[in-house]
Amino acid sequence: MRIRPFVVLLLLAVGLFICAQDENFAANPQPSKAKPAASPAASAPASSPARATKPVVDQTAQVVIFGYHRFVDNVKRPDTEITPAAFEAQMKELKDRGITVIGMQDLLAWKRGEKSIPPRCAIITLDDGWKSQYDVAWPILKKFGYTHTMFIYTEGVQGGHFGGGQAITWEQLSEMRDAGVDIQGHTATHQDLRKPYDKVAKKRLSPPEYEQWLQNEVVGSKQLLEQRLGIKVNCFAVPYGFYNQHVKDVARNAGYEAVFTVYGQPITYNAPLDSLGRYLIEANKPKVFEDAVKMISTSSGGGGQPVAEVATTNLSTSPADGETVRTALPLIKANLSAIGPADPGSVQLRVSGLGLVAATYDPKTGTVAYQVTQKLREKTCTVILSAKSGGKKIEAHWTFGIEDTAAATSASPSPTPKKR
Ligand SMILES: [Zn+2]
Repeated sequence: MRIRPFVVLLLLAVGLFICAQDENFAANPQPSKAKPAASPAASAPASSPARATKPVVDQTAQVVIFGYHRFVDNVKRPDTEITPAAFEAQMKELKDRGITVIGMQDLLAWKRGEKSIPPRCAIITLDDGWKSQYDVAWPILKKFGYTHTMFIYTEGVQGGHFGGGQAITWEQLSEMRDAGVDIQGHTATHQDLRKPYDKVAKKRLSPPEYEQWLQNEVVGSKQLLEQRLGIKVNCFAVPYGFYNQHVKDVARNAGYEAVFTVYGQPITYNAPLDSLGRYLIEANKPKVFEDAVKMISTSSGGGGQPVAEVATTNLSTSPADGETVRTALPLIKANLSAIGPADPGSVQLRVSGLGLVAATYDPKTGTVAYQVTQKLREKTCTVILSAKSGGKKIEAHWTFGIEDTAAATSASPSPTPKKR
């Protein structure tokens, strides 16, 4: 998929803010626990003593998160509906492409540095609590052995203010919980949380009323889910993908570990936990799914030989994975000596926005280098390094940010509202 520049800019800005201000939310929101691993942001560069205590996780793995709404044979609202056949075909495609469906808690454990995940993963999320998620989607997911997450807004469950005949029931949610389905928060009434307006009461809210209302939407709905179902809710999907810093602060204080938006993008190890993008899949935009899948599929041509992913930490990359540099013309470097002698003709370096570049490789030192000569225009740059060593193809991916103070303001995002 094409990531529009302003989205990247926003995400980068958010990322920088989080790194600077709020490492706790970004990396390890539960400081009271036994401190299994230092936050990746704090421990990534240059420290060797940490190695002994920190579990080895594959930091080059990537995860795409899909979001679905309703499953119907006759699609009337293609912005939120999909046919069961199309959904099943997509689930099969994940399998066919070797993309592993993992649970949301696996993603969070990986990002805490506690657990490894396969190199290319997907997470399935179903939004808003529709009955067809129970009747139609769940049986399909079970057929593939996939686990999934339900993002529920509590007034949308049957019996609630918006819970009509097409809504899921608490009993169905309990049954899903018992079967291991992950159930998470999506507010009480599914409104734009930035706006001081209560659609249920049809009332504009004064600042104190807004705070109280926001507490109920973010905190009250979490408590209701936890009490009604006897679960722990640690993920929060903001309705329509709308949020601001205050909404995120309230979510963090409520104990949510991760906040989910609707800007689809592959989730990397260092992606900030307070704005994880999901791909919302719509019947009339099948390309969204295809693009997402392509984004994390190994792109080395179908049916080729297997490619071993190498952790970039072993390659002493520069810029480092997750680093932000102050120049749009960085010198990109990596050292291949850790993987053994590379076949010199096989070394390839690809840079997002530039494609294959004319990198140099010094077999004596194992150093691959490329001085960027055309300004990198995106705020996030992905580097893919591949080489053959002993007949085996290896590949490493990493991402760094480019700080450009001149371009750091302007454009605000205008995501399309997505609801029932
Ligand atoms: Zn929703």
